[in-house]
Amino acid sequence: MKCQRCGGNAVKSTTSSVTDLGDVLIIVRNVPCYQCEHCDEIIYTGNVLANLEKFIDAAKKLHQEISVIDYTKNVA
Ligand SMILES: [Zn+2]
Repeated sequence: MKCQRCGGNAVKSTTSSVTDLGDVLIIVRNVPCYQCEHCDEIIYTGNVLANLEKFIDAAKKLHQEISVIDYTKNVA
């Protein structure tokens, strides 16, 4: 996969996604992604983005100050 920012080579990796909604902080660990070898840009595929949105929606309803979710344990 090519990096959208610099056109460099992006390789498969995992990262932690942090979403700060002001009163709620949502951290999703072990998120599969592509990372650019040149500029470290993180690229998510559409499928992963959809899953992240689901996690964030679910975490919002918990009303916890900080939610930590493990991606690999929550995707079938
Ligand atoms: Zn890049």
